[in-house]
Amino acid sequence: MGDVRKIYIVGNWKMNFTPGEASLYLHKLSKKVTPGKDIQIIVAPSMISLQTLSLQVNRREFKLAAQNINGRDFGAFTGEVSAAQLRGIVDYALVGHSERRYLFYEHDKITREKVAAALRNRIVPILCIGETLNERENGETDMVIRDQLIGGLSEVVKEDMDKVIVAYEPVWAISSNKDAKLATPDEVEDAVRQVRKHVAEVYGEKVAEALPVLYGGSINNSNAGTYLRIEGVDGLLMGGASLIADEFSSIVDIAKEVRDERD
Ligand code: PEP
Repeated sequence: MGDVRKIYIVGNWKMNFTPGEASLYLHKLSKKVTPGKDIQIIVAPSMISLQTLSLQVNRREFKLAAQNINGRDFGAFTGEVSAAQLRGIVDYALVGHSERRYLFYEHDKITREKVAAALRNRIVPILCIGETLNERENGETDMVIRDQLIGGLSEVVKEDMDKVIVAYEPVWAISSNKDAKLATPDEVEDAVRQVRKHVAEVYGEKVAEALPVLYGGSINNSNAGTYLRIEGVDGLLMGGASLIADEFSSIVDIAKEVRDERD
């Protein structure tokens, strides 16, 4: 890629930890994990823990992400939390995680509203995209990537594209799925290239080149180095591994090694 790019290491804690446990875990992580130059560490705790952790976190070391946001700012939306309410509490928000898409039926119109809401509220959306096993086997991977990407970004103007992150996460590689399997480096490189190609078609080559594209799917400390060294991959989004402090910290150490190799 030429010059040194930031590496993002994102931990999605999903529906784990009470607020007290989350606070203790963040404390433990901050003792173990030492962020390095050009490494951005982001953790995404449950909604209920965000406010407490925002008071505790050292934002020079860790940034906070919401796992989800609502696409409207305020109103009669029982049980929802908006980007407007999270403004100042988080710096990032996951949008369109496959568990939201497939367990909570979020389609591209919803992800598009959420991406726009995040940007409106100075939160960087991490737009998650990826095909199911069925879609891959039917040769639909590229179409799904394009539809989810373009669908999610369709309200984003070019000037805001430097505040967007994309995470490619094939659903079949996510560890909580039955029969999850590891994506090969070629499969990941190919998908990430497609992401940039579709972004370039809409926003131009420069925007596509600058866009951070992360990979997620059963990352652990034995495969993190392989995925991080794939051409075009700017970081990792991890679920399971982010819940284990030793694993998290060794993945950050691997990211530092990869970053140094790029100097
Ligand atoms: C995820 O759910 O985004 C994810 C990548 O999970 P895991 O790392 O556990 O596969």
